[in-house]
Amino acid sequence: MGGLVIRSDQPKKETEYKTLPAIAGGRPVRNTLLPYARQWVDEGDIAAVTEVLQGDWLTTGPKIAEFEKKFAAYVGAKYAVAVVNGTAALHAAVFAAGIGPGDEVITTPITFAASANCVLYQGGMPVFADIDPRTYNIALDGVEKKITPRTRAVIPVHFTGQPCDLDEIHELARRNGLVVIEDAAHALGAEYKGRRIGGLSDMTIFSFHPVKHITTGEGGMITTNSLELYQRLVSFRNHGIVRDRSFMIEDQGPWFYEQQELGYNYRLTDMQAALGLSQMKKISSFLERRRKIVEAYNHSLAGIEELTLPCQAPYSLSAWHLYVVSLDLDKLTVGRREIFEALRAENIGVNVHYIPVYRHPYYRRNGFSNAGASCPNAEKLYQSIISLPLYPAMSDQDAFDVVEAVSKVLHHYRCK
Ligand SMILES: *Cc1c(COP(=O)(O)O)cnc(C)c1O
Repeated sequence: MGGLVIRSDQPKKETEYKTLPAIAGGRPVRNTLLPYARQWVDEGDIAAVTEVLQGDWLTTGPKIAEFEKKFAAYVGAKYAVAVVNGTAALHAAVFAAGIGPGDEVITTPITFAASANCVLYQGGMPVFADIDPRTYNIALDGVEKKITPRTRAVIPVHFTGQPCDLDEIHELARRNGLVVIEDAAHALGAEYKGRRIGGLSDMTIFSFHPVKHITTGEGGMITTNSLELYQRLVSFRNHGIVRDRSFMIEDQGPWFYEQQELGYNYRLTDMQAALGLSQMKKISSFLERRRKIVEAYNHSLAGIEELTLPCQAPYSLSAWHLYVVSLDLDKLTVGRREIFEALRAENIGVNVHYIPVYRHPYYRRNGFSNAGASCPNAEKLYQSIISLPLYPAMSDQDAFDVVEAVSKVLHHYRCK
C-alpha cells in the first residue's frame, strides 16, 4: 500500500477535457470496470482460515471469543458479540433494547434499509427523521420533531463513516429515556471528539460485509458496556437459550438448558472469526489508505464548481467508508441519471447511497408513502448524490481514473 502521490498536473489541461465522454462516442478512461468497493484479502487471511479448517472447531469456538475480545478492545467497549451479519447485529440490538409492538424507533432515511428493518423484525415501528444538509447525518432537530410518548430508541447511522454528533444525541436520549443504538456499519475506526466509535452508546453495531472496512464474508458485531445487554445479545444469537445454571428458571439436571426468549441462530463460524482477526491487523493501514485517497479526491476535485464534496464536522474523524459527492444540477445540462450513466460508460463503478428507505415499495405499501414530506433534506440530497469508488486496494492510477472521468463528464455536461 504505497502512498498516493498527488500529481501537480491535476487537473488536466483544457484541451484534454475536450475529449468526448465514452457515452457520447469518446474513449473510456479505462478498459475494465473499477468497482465502488472491494475487499482486501491476502495470503495471511487465507492461511488464518485454512488453519481453522484443519482444527476441531468450525462453528462457535475459540476464534469467536478471541475475535470478540480483540474487537471490543479496539473500539473501546467492554463486550462484543459476533453475529452472522450487520443486519443480525441490528436485530439483536433492537431485541436487547426490549423494542416490541407499539414502540417507535427513530432513524435516518439516508441509510441501508437494514437500519429500519430491524425495528420491524421485533414488531416496532421505524420513524424517519430528516438529515443535516451538510453532514448528511441524522439531524438533532429532525429527531426532536419525531419524538412521541411511544419513542423508545434512536438508531443514528454514521453515514459514510463520519460520526453523528453523539453528545447532542445522548443528551436528547437522556431527557427522553431513549436507548441509543449506533449503526456504525460505515464507521469502524472512526472517532468522535477523539474517542473511537464503539463504546460510546448503549449498543453499537458493525458489519463485515466485503465492502466494509474489514470483512468476514458475511459478519457483524454488537458492542456494549452493559453486562445485562451483553447477556441478552449472547442468548439472542443462540435461539434465546440460556446455559448458565445461575440464570436458569428450573434447573432439571446436568443436561439441561433453557430457551427463555425467542432468539435465532445468528452464530458466526470460527473460520469467519479467524478471517476477522487476520483482517483486524490491517485496520490502521486500511484507514490510512482510505484517507489518502480521500485527500487526493478532495484536492483534485476541489476546482469543479458543479460538485459539492463531503463536508466534515470538526468533532468527527471519519473512517471514510464512502466518498459521496453531490451534483449542483442547476449548473448541468442533464440530471444525475445521465451523469451516473456517463461515469459508468467510463468504466467507473459509481453508485448511489442511498435511496431514502421510506421510498422502497415495501415501506410505501405499509404507511410510509408520505414520509418524504417531513424529510425535505433527505429528498433533496437523494436527487443529486453519487458515490465514487473508495477502498484500500485501489491503486493510485485507479484514483486518477476516477478524477479524470468525473472531470471529463462534468466538463461535457456543464452549462455553457
Ligand atoms: C452494510 C450495512 C448494514 C448491514 O450490514 P450487513 O452485514 O450487510 O447485514 C446496516 N447498516 C448500514 C448503514 C450498512 O451500510
